[in-house]
Amino acid sequence: MGVAETKIYPINTGWLHGDLGTYIFWKGPAGKKKWQPVYCHYVDTGTHRVLIDTGLPDQQRASQYHHNCEKRGCLQVHEHLQQVLGIHPDSIDAILFTHLHWDHVQNMKAFRNARYIAPKAEIEMAFNPLPLYYRTYESGCLGIEPAYAGCTFEMVDDECEILPGLTMFHTPGHSVGHMAVSVATTAGDIVICGDAIFEERNLEPNPAERWRFWVPARFVNSYEGWRSVEEIDKRADYVLPCHDDIANSRSDVFPYEGMPVRKRRQVIPGYHFYFGDMPGGATGAVAPSMPPDEVEAYIAGLADPSSMAD
Ligand SMILES: [Zn+2]
Repeated sequence: MGVAETKIYPINTGWLHGDLGTYIFWKGPAGKKKWQPVYCHYVDTGTHRVLIDTGLPDQQRASQYHHNCEKRGCLQVHEHLQQVLGIHPDSIDAILFTHLHWDHVQNMKAFRNARYIAPKAEIEMAFNPLPLYYRTYESGCLGIEPAYAGCTFEMVDDECEILPGLTMFHTPGHSVGHMAVSVATTAGDIVICGDAIFEERNLEPNPAERWRFWVPARFVNSYEGWRSVEEIDKRADYVLPCHDDIANSRSDVFPYEGMPVRKRRQVIPGYHFYFGDMPGGATGAVAPSMPPDEVEAYIAGLADPSSMAD
């Protein structure tokens, strides 16, 4: 195995109607909605076959208990693996879960030989949710059987290199124990973000508020959530957020020739970081500061969330 052989295949398991203000962007246009895909990711390292999250259930279950859902021809994860990628579910070695929200865990029992690996704080919350999150974790209190009923997880309590080049690191805020997964590839570090950000746009400024990042609104802890967005900005040469249509659909497989590599932790004059410097070993990856005379045109070119509504 090795970095040279590592490939990531995004799998779209369906679409949810998400609010641009209460979910996707803090102070975004609440009441306006956008259809968002629900991706999970298959990673082939050359010697190991790993899934990162497992996505949505069928449309009936999703819409009955959660949000308005459309499959639009998308398959469930195990069906997609077999029918589109030719990978038998029994050959999956492990599933890494960024967090255990309902739209990231479905059909996990279809992978009979997989180890289930998840952040410790997510496992604790999933099996005993704060009442506000009964539905998010499909609590038995509501008469729903969660996808992980009867499953045994292996817990990750700190940053952990699960396989060489495949690292889970803390990105709490969206949920209590959320962890993103960094995958070392020939084109740099691709971070599978779970829901720590919903879209690439979350990593760019909110000009009206002078925020360096237009972070998502869906946090249990906004302080940790902002820090996690900064952490992803520091580590990622490319991001694959689970609900980002554009980032996931640029190619069927990542990395690919011509993949647009992002700038890590770029200083944009007038827009400030809040937390400390780069993690050890990554200081050389900082992008040069944006020249002040380029800022105005850059800000003018950013997408406005109110233009994203369906
Ligand atoms: Zn979530």
